[in-house]
Formats: sequence, structure tokens, C-alpha cells
Amino acid sequence: MNEVVGRDDLLLLTLDTLRHDVAVELAAAGRLPNLAAHLPGGVWEKRHAPGSFTYASHQAMFAGFLPTPASPGPHPRLFAARFAGSETTEDRTFVFDTPDVVSALAARGYHTVCIGGVGFFNKRGALGDVLPGLFQESHWEPEFSVASPTSFESQVARAEQVVSELPARQRLFLFLNASALHQPNWFHLEGAGRDTGDSRLTHAAALEYVDRHVGRLFSAMSARRRCFAIVCSDHGTAYGDDGYTGHRLGHEAVWTVPYSHFFLEPSA
Ligand SMILES: [Zn+2]
Repeated sequence: MNEVVGRDDLLLLTLDTLRHDVAVELAAAGRLPNLAAHLPGGVWEKRHAPGSFTYASHQAMFAGFLPTPASPGPHPRLFAARFAGSETTEDRTFVFDTPDVVSALAARGYHTVCIGGVGFFNKRGALGDVLPGLFQESHWEPEFSVASPTSFESQVARAEQVVSELPARQRLFLFLNASALHQPNWFHLEGAGRDTGDSRLTHAAALEYVDRHVGRLFSAMSARRRCFAIVCSDHGTAYGDDGYTGHRLGHEAVWTVPYSHFFLEPSA
């Protein structure tokens, strides 16, 4: 990561609430053509979320604790705050002296931009300001929210606008929290309705919706130079698994998340 920081643009895309099993099934079935084209080997990594809900998980990720590989470690980290005795910091780790990677990248000359989705990014009230407040520039609109059937398209359009307005030389760290997977998501499945509500099937349809538009985000982020992209979920969610519904609870459907990172090469 030390070679990447300062050279490439950076994208952190959190697919909020995306379940690992649904992501894996859809990739294997060829239903995520645009995402799978970038995943090494066409498959998601299985990881453990650093928190069981949006606020906890994103605070941890911004502090350098991305989801942990779901196998016995220690696993070296890409980013880490300087911390005596850290067993997951190695030579390649980008080590920073600020409390979070966002301000660390700003100190290294990156323009930092947040495009919010779920409520913890809505900038409406003190708590909704905390995570966007880490960034130099932040955006949130009702059309980006969980209630919008066109949330991801709207978020991607904003990202395209942000990139187009930046001077070519300016390095960019763009964070986008996609809200489409989060409940409610029934409106992404044709034939589903408010009365039948959300399920693994509507969750899957929401992921296919994201896949249909993610290519535009990747193109925008690699239009100026090479981009290092991290795409992951912040936590999963339960749809009646062992009687549980939702997240902010300890269940395998919540703590297991899909993860990937890869380079987006600039188009010629
Ligand atoms: Zn979340």
C-alpha cells in the first residue's frame, strides 16, 4: 500500500448490508458480470466484518481495520495507525499518524470525498455528521438514501460530477456508501411489493441493480489515472436466519462479508 498511496487514486466502495452468501451465489451464477470482471479469479473473498452495523464498522474501517480474512491470522493490513505492538502492520502497510486513514490521505495530498447512502451519512443532525465530517467534501441527498429505488444511479452520477470537476493533477480518495442493499430493497425485484417485503431474493435483485451501474463508477475513477479499489460490505443482515432479522447482532449472516481489492487501469 505504501507504493499505491501518493501514486494512484483510491476508491472505497462499501455495499452496505450485502450478505456474503448472496454475493458469492450471484457471482458464481454469472449474475454480476461487471463486478465479477474485476474480482481476482471472479470470486469474492470471505471476510469478517469489523462491526455488526454501519456506524461501528465504518469507524473501524476508517481507522484502518478493513474486514479481516475469515481464516486464522495474523493478517497484515493495508492501512494502520501507528500503534506500538501492532501484529498486523508490516513493511507494505501504509502507516499513518492521524487517528483515521481519511485525514492521513488528505495530509498526503489527496482530495477526500464522501458520497453517503444510509442514515449514518445523511448529515442531518450531529450523529449523521460524524462520518461525513472526516472528509474534505461530502454529499448526501434524499435520492441517495435507502428509500430511493434509484439510489445507486444517483450516487454514481454525483461521483462522475466530482471527478470531472477535479484538476487532472489532483489525487482523489473517493468513498461511496451504496445504500441499495439495505432494507427496504423489495422495490428492486419485479413482482415484489411492500406487502411481501424484503427477503434474500430482493436483496439479490438489489445487488444485480448495483452491478448494472457500477461500471460507470469504475470508469469515472480510472478516467484520470490508475485507481486502487476496495469493494466490500460493512456487515450482512439476517432474513429470518435462526429466527434473527436485521443486523447489529452476532450471527454468521451478519459478521461474514464479501471483500475484494483490485486495480482499475486507466482507459487509453
Ligand atoms: Zn451498514
